[in-house]
Amino acid sequence: PQRFFSTTFKASDLQIELNKHLKPKPDSSKLVFGKNFTDHMLTVEWSKENGWGKPHIKPFQNLSLHPASSVLHYSVELFEGMKAFRGSDQRIRLFRPMLNMNRMLQSSLRACLPAFDQSELLECIQQLIRVDQDWVPHSSTASLYIRPILIGTEPSLGVSISNHALLFVILGPVGPYFTTGSFNPVSLLADPQFVRAWMGGVGNCKVGGNYGPTIYVQGEAAKLGCQQVLWLYGEDHQLTEVGTMNIFLFWKDQEGDMELVTPPLNGIILPGVTRQSLLDLARKWGKFKVSERTITMSDVIKGLEEKRVKEIFGSGTACVVCPVDRILYQGKNYHIPTMENGPEIAKRFLKELTDIQYGRTPSDWAQVV
Ligand code: PMP
Repeated sequence: PQRFFSTTFKASDLQIELNKHLKPKPDSSKLVFGKNFTDHMLTVEWSKENGWGKPHIKPFQNLSLHPASSVLHYSVELFEGMKAFRGSDQRIRLFRPMLNMNRMLQSSLRACLPAFDQSELLECIQQLIRVDQDWVPHSSTASLYIRPILIGTEPSLGVSISNHALLFVILGPVGPYFTTGSFNPVSLLADPQFVRAWMGGVGNCKVGGNYGPTIYVQGEAAKLGCQQVLWLYGEDHQLTEVGTMNIFLFWKDQEGDMELVTPPLNGIILPGVTRQSLLDLARKWGKFKVSERTITMSDVIKGLEEKRVKEIFGSGTACVVCPVDRILYQGKNYHIPTMENGPEIAKRFLKELTDIQYGRTPSDWAQVV
């Protein structure tokens, strides 16, 4: 009957079962990304018949899935990635979390998985973090990684809409991206035979199918002595993303103006929270042109030849910004002078964003848990 159907779950319905067997916390100086998990998890079930069930916080545990579950066969799933930071005032903060919630809803709709109220999910996540608050590292460089995920659990091999789904959230402490304390620049393989996303596809959604196939390409890059993949697109070899980061170029443009440029959200680019934040900050500074437009490899090479390129860096939750010092393209290594130029802009972005995340600069981008 209609009255039992819920179009969203509610944080006020949370059922909490605490874990009686708490794990020892790992040494926060030795954390490897994605290998450590906290004591609890959040789960919410959905079915087409009844809508959303009550959200549960319960001991971290294995899932039990029907072997025909659509997530396992057709990758009917989507996920998010965000972090909680402990400030020196001991308060725990999230960084623009509603941008993740909104992106998650967009990915869900594209995967034909259910909609939900984004602020209810955020409140459930905050409750989960409060339960596992001792796991948020006492460090101004480490943080707690948050992985929400929504999977299709339809027990059927038909390639069709999933009538059953499971949303869950797991947490784990992560160390600093740059272990040496200063920037480590990365080298990139730019090979147009590999394509991450394409027009009409799902590159703008955080669905698992975008990631699994990149592992092989990452291996090809490593074989050629490169640390990450620069994803190109189209006949004109447009730069799209680097690894699992958005990409930024800071240079003197053809007209001789200083410009920060990143590719536009045209469907093949993941709308990164960090990307948006760098654009917002740079526009607020008002010191140089800020553009969202296509950049091609020939633009970059011409810029390098004319010594107009100052910095190239990736942006993402993992690192905030990650400088690029070399691109291997069509058998030729191109040195990128990011480090020689400071990197002035990348450093300023890193400082301003981490100051907000760790509560050193008050900002409405930081949400106290
Ligand atoms: N591009 C891709 C493909 C990604 O997976 C990510 C990580 N979510 C990003 C860019 C950066 O996004 P964000 O700044 O939200 O972490």
